[in-house]
Formats: sequence, C-alpha cells, structure tokens
Amino acid sequence: MIPVTKPFLPPQEEYNKHLQGIWKRQWLTNMGPLASDLEMRLKNYLSVDHLLFVTNGTVALQMAIRALDLKGEIITTPFSFVATTSSIVWEGCKPVFVDIDKDSLNIDPNKIESAITENTSAILATHVYGNPCDVAAIEKIAKKHHLKVIYDGAHAFGVQVNDKSIFDYGDISICSLHATKLYHSIEGGLVITKDTALLKKLAFMRNFGFDGPEAFAELGLNGKNSEFHAAMGLVNLNFIQEIHNNRKKIVDRYDEKLKDYKAIKQIWHKEGSQNYAYYPIVVESEELLHKCIDTLKLNEIFVRRYFYPSLSNILPYLESVEMPITEDISKRIMCLPLFHDLTLEEVDLICRLMLRVQNN
Ligand SMILES: *Cc1c(COP(=O)(O)O)cnc(C)c1O
Repeated sequence: MIPVTKPFLPPQEEYNKHLQGIWKRQWLTNMGPLASDLEMRLKNYLSVDHLLFVTNGTVALQMAIRALDLKGEIITTPFSFVATTSSIVWEGCKPVFVDIDKDSLNIDPNKIESAITENTSAILATHVYGNPCDVAAIEKIAKKHHLKVIYDGAHAFGVQVNDKSIFDYGDISICSLHATKLYHSIEGGLVITKDTALLKKLAFMRNFGFDGPEAFAELGLNGKNSEFHAAMGLVNLNFIQEIHNNRKKIVDRYDEKLKDYKAIKQIWHKEGSQNYAYYPIVVESEELLHKCIDTLKLNEIFVRRYFYPSLSNILPYLESVEMPITEDISKRIMCLPLFHDLTLEEVDLICRLMLRVQNN
C-alpha cells in the first residue's frame, strides 16, 4: 500500500531522551524549556526575527486575525484548506473570495483590487503547496488601500523568496506543524511577525491574556503547546535536511518520468526556493482524473484530491460564488504520493500506471 502521505517519525531513542528530561523537570506544558528551545532553533533555521510556537495552524490563523483587529471583509482564496476560510468566519469577519491564477494556483493579484470595498480590512492569502504568492504585488495593493496582510504559510516551511524567509512577508505569517506537513511537531503551529508590539500582543493572547499571575493585558485564548510536542519538533529538526534531500530526489524522479505526461504543472515563483512539500498535478479532464485515481487504487496507491472541492461552493455557512478557475483546477488536480521514504521504484510504478491510463 502506498499512502499519499506519511508522517515522518525519528528514531524513537532520540525522542525518548527528551522524555527523560520532561520526567525529571515535571514541566509538561505552558512554554517549558523545550518549547522555548524549539522557538529559538526555528528562528535560527528559518532566519526570522520572531516567532511563537502555538497549538496548531488554525489557532495561529485565528490569533493573527484577532491580533490585527480585523473587521468586516477579508479577501482570500477559495483554493486552500478549509481552515483559511473558516478562521475568518470564526473571528466574525466575512471572507470575500478572489479567484486564483491558473499557473501559480495562488490568489490572482490582478483580481484583488476589484474585490476591495470600503469594508475590506485585509488580505489573507495562502502559499499554495508552498509556492510563494506574488508578495510584491500583494504588498503594493495592501499599501495603496491600507489593508493588512496575513499569509497562510501552512505548506511553506523553509521556503525563501529573494533569499529571505517567506514568513518575513505580510503583517503576520502562520505555519502549520501538523503531522502530515513537511516538518511537524505532531500538532503545532507558528505565528511569525516582524512587529515587536504585535508579537507581544500575540504572546499575551496565546496565554489567556495573562500579564503576570494576577493581571490581564489582552483578551486571550489557550494557544500554548506542550513539551511533548516541542520535543518532537526538536528531534525532527535534526532530520530536516535529510527529509528535504529525499523529497527532492522523489520530486526529480516524478518530473523525469512524467515529462511526456499531458498535464499542467504549477508554475513556481521565479525568486522562490522549493520545499518539495507536495506533488500536485492537473490532468486534462476530470474524467481522466477519476480513471487515474481508480487505477492507482486498484494497485493500492492512494492519491488525494487536494484541494477539492473549491471552498467557494461547499461551505454550508457561506453563500456559493462562482470562481471559474478554482472550480476548473480543483476538479482536475490531485497530489501524488510524496513522503520521506517513498522509494524511486514506487515512484516509477505510479508514473507507469498514470501513463498507461493516459495512453489507453
Ligand atoms: C494544514 C493547514 C492549515 C491548518 O493547520 P493545522 O495545524 O492543521 O490547524 C491551514 N491552512 C492550510 C493551507 C493547511 O494546509
């Protein structure tokens, strides 16, 4: 059986070493030494000024919207995971969808301005599959219209643009460290900002708004994460280069074997580095997609229709809107299996089956 993804698990002894420390200190959560250490190491690894380790990526999004005091309408992409949109609604704001660019699969900056109204407060864009948004164009629009920018970088761990972390862009960026992501702490998330006042506010918010044991600085929630999660994050960080190298080899092999396959590939940001988080492929028709999925399934190979369907017409709490490009792409896209120990033989098999379906 080949799953679409598989969480990376480090050698158990390395995780156990951290457990001994946790047992000795008996400090289990509430920003203990491992969580603080993870924040330091991630700041270094990602080359960002500040970040906070939080419960998960969804809480990170909610905290970001709240910390920026966003009201009214937030412009966002319908081609993302549901948490991007649901966080906006959860925080009492209205998501306004803007269709994607068919090449980058990210929100199309050329369509943003016509969606701006007097009620618009921000743009929340996703770096889809880790591919950096057109951050320069989005920044220009945001400046002109006095909008805040949040980037959902759940897929974008380790990606750089112009030799700068992708998380350096926008007012706040978030990342998810969920077990299915490229780099994980089982459950976890990051909030990243360059603004120290905003960082302070977010840190208060993460801990119920407490400012010392008997005072409150902000309205808060519980966005903390545990020492056990931090330990997994710390150990996994030792393997990030190995994970990266393996994934690159796998992606290169897919590229080579599928070079004659009639499909559209996402076009990557010219100045952006790759993190090999996903291997999306847009085939010619939904019918062909179904044939592929069925044939692969018969061989116990599982792909994922990610993202399908478009968030613009599936959420019971939102009115449907037409987003022609997103709807078209989401019907024809799938992510092929990609994880650290997928073998090249398995990649070859997947590609052979795909080519056979197409040529039949
Ligand atoms: C995974 C994901 C999230 C949510 O992250 P969690 O850590 O699972 O809460 C948000 N946005 C995108 C694009 C994601 O893929």
